[in-house]
Amino acid sequence: MQAAIIDAPGNIRVGSLPDPLPRPDELLIRVGACGICGTDLHLIDGDSPLARYPLVPGHEFAGEVVALGSNVAEQGGNGEARIVVGSRVAVEPNLYCGHCEGCRTGHENLCLNYTAVGVTTNGAIAEYVAVPAAKAYVLPDTISLREAALIEPVSCAVHGMHSLNPRSGDTFLIVGAGTMGLLLLQLALRGGASRIAVVDVNAQRLARAEQLGATRTYTDIRQALADEPRGFHCVIDATGVAAVIEQAFLAVKRGGKFMIFGVASYEASVSLSPFRIYNDEITIVGSMAVLSSFQAALDLIQGGVINTRAMLTTAYPLQDFAQAIGQVRRGEGIKTLILPNG
Ligand SMILES: [Zn+2]
Ligand SMILES: [Zn+2]
Repeated sequence: MQAAIIDAPGNIRVGSLPDPLPRPDELLIRVGACGICGTDLHLIDGDSPLARYPLVPGHEFAGEVVALGSNVAEQGGNGEARIVVGSRVAVEPNLYCGHCEGCRTGHENLCLNYTAVGVTTNGAIAEYVAVPAAKAYVLPDTISLREAALIEPVSCAVHGMHSLNPRSGDTFLIVGAGTMGLLLLQLALRGGASRIAVVDVNAQRLARAEQLGATRTYTDIRQALADEPRGFHCVIDATGVAAVIEQAFLAVKRGGKFMIFGVASYEASVSLSPFRIYNDEITIVGSMAVLSSFQAALDLIQGGVINTRAMLTTAYPLQDFAQAIGQVRRGEGIKTLILPNG
């Protein structure tokens, strides 16, 4: 098969690999669409402590089942959609060991032996990928494979909203209007936000934020704070940039919450006032990946809560992987998809 391959940090190509063979508990999937996200850029840049090279990236994907492992034949029952050859599925890429402290205390996303399709094992920017059958979700006919590639990022945003746990009527500041910022915007609106300000330096993304319901948009956090001098109940950083995080912290209202959602470099650090955290009773929340939120994300897309048309701006064939990466780095468009089988 053809696949995007990261041979080593900084070294990407499209090349041939043997077709993956499904192990007994796996499915072989012909990939319909796979999104590119910031995690893929971190993998390409060698900025991910979990990555093992050479690696096929791609963890936001959907496709058609073309083969079942020997133990998978009886999947389904109890009213669940049965997985058969020909099923259209989306796949939760995070793999948990099931026996560590995190897994046994309801924090599977913090698994001490965490692995993930497209991060530690070969992913879906390829014609085929093999995945554990238990991680596949059968898609309703109303969701296209391209739309289904958004389920994984939506499920991260859903976990973020579960972690943040805002109250109806809260004001929001979302910093960063990429895919994740715009998904969080849509969920916050449905969750009862009274006003949502969005900050980004990219005018196209701010226009998209306005289209999706942002109350006001800004190119600078200080401008947002000038309009809302006491700050916002909920401030979300969706950039992962240390200097931006320090500024965003200043926009949290007394008694408010600050969620670190963007993926910073694992070596980055920030300076925050502990006096303010104490004196203003600020809650700082982290949100990592997905936790029991994949089905909810599927349901949100099926229910039309997420404007998939506004999010899916760009699609490339597999051969143009390097070009697609260049476009993502330049911040053009919102979600870029690779369509490995055309
Ligand atoms: Zn991702
Ligand atoms: Zn575990």
